[in-house]
Amino acid sequence: MNLEGITIKSALDSFDKGEFSSEELASEYLKVIGEKDKNIHAYLEVYGDVLDQAKNNPKGIPLAIKDNILINGRVASAASKILENYKAVYDATAIEKLKDAGSIFLGRTNMDEFAMGGSTENSAYGPTKNPHDLERVPGGSSGGSAAAVAAGETLAAIGSDTGGSIRQPSAFCGVVGLKPTYGRVSRYGLMAMGSSLDQIGPITKTVADSKILLDIMAGLDPRDGTTISNDTYENRGKAKVIGVPESILQMDGLDSGVLKNFQESIEKLKSLGYEIRDVSFEHLSLALATYYIIMPAEVSSNMARYDGIKYGYRAKGDTLEEVYQNTRSEALGVEVKRRIMLGTYVLSTGYFDEYYGKANTAREVIKKDFERIFKDVDVIATPTTPTPAFKIGEKINDPVQMYLADIFTVPANIAGVPAISIPAGKVDGLPVGLQLIAPHGAEEVLFGVGEEFEK
Ligand code: GLN
Repeated sequence: MNLEGITIKSALDSFDKGEFSSEELASEYLKVIGEKDKNIHAYLEVYGDVLDQAKNNPKGIPLAIKDNILINGRVASAASKILENYKAVYDATAIEKLKDAGSIFLGRTNMDEFAMGGSTENSAYGPTKNPHDLERVPGGSSGGSAAAVAAGETLAAIGSDTGGSIRQPSAFCGVVGLKPTYGRVSRYGLMAMGSSLDQIGPITKTVADSKILLDIMAGLDPRDGTTISNDTYENRGKAKVIGVPESILQMDGLDSGVLKNFQESIEKLKSLGYEIRDVSFEHLSLALATYYIIMPAEVSSNMARYDGIKYGYRAKGDTLEEVYQNTRSEALGVEVKRRIMLGTYVLSTGYFDEYYGKANTAREVIKKDFERIFKDVDVIATPTTPTPAFKIGEKINDPVQMYLADIFTVPANIAGVPAISIPAGKVDGLPVGLQLIAPHGAEEVLFGVGEEFEK
């Protein structure tokens, strides 16, 4: 079996033609995992019942699932010590839908603890390596999912994206990553990080596969009041005009190789017949600061449930207060603690207006920028990341440097619009991505441009 050439689309075809079964396909992936994952560490756990799942679903697609998405009866740790042995007691809606479609779950993938990070170095279980260069990070927080797809250790994977965690690792690993419109895929059963920003999405080899998985997972869910039905937005058809925010081309910190690669991508889009227009994204410079206030504020509230009482790890203590303190001190990592403290601070009496209130105003301004730009253009294009994958250890002690890597990905989460990262070739031998952003509900526009671009 030539695993490399197989996509979800072609596998479904092969199942129908009887060329191979999902059991044969899944066992090939188990072989690759056995050979490669000691070095890459994309998986935190490979399930023991993969072949049994495949026997029951002869046309099922093998998938790897990020460790913060609940599968009933299986461990879900969010790569944290605090949930080391936590077993989910229900299926996430996205998982339920994937199960209904017959999917086969190969295992759960490594990530930054509770999805906080951009390198997968914040995992309590050790980092994942980039399959293109084992000394480099795969990106994060869905680094395990992206690395598993890139290494051929799964056909496709599921991740979550709060500020870039699907798109950035997809760019670093040379695969396709989609963050859907906010509310497109139910968050029920996704461990909450920043609830107003989080979305589940697919990581795949091709754009067509991304669409297949989105179609399975999307839809209104009574268990998540922010979900939208699939016919909420009118079909916008095919894109004609692509906007490029000129200011990003002069941005500090944008790698010159990435810039050159991006300009080549724009030329390619031109040659495909798209009209390219300069757009002014006036408040792009506010996006990172806005994200790094709203996100930790929501993180600090969402993390309150991990108290050592309700579930997961429990430390000893003489009083209830001490149990709380010791549990959280011992079992949460430094990045998670940093964000809880930052979030608690920006929400505290006296500072609320100055930080959280202001960030919400800035969020509105950024949304307005998008609305204005999308009156003129169908899609906005940017590089997915300002640099290719960096070295393991390079940024881990400098959180601000780490946060700067999210500059192009966070605006889509702030505004709730869909965005996709598509492989755009290599810079210094490392993969980079082209990011395309569309208006709310216009995933099909992204798929349309994306499919032409990837050819
Ligand atoms: N890198 C970003 C952060 O650290 C994005 C994380 C995410 O999307 N989950 O917050």
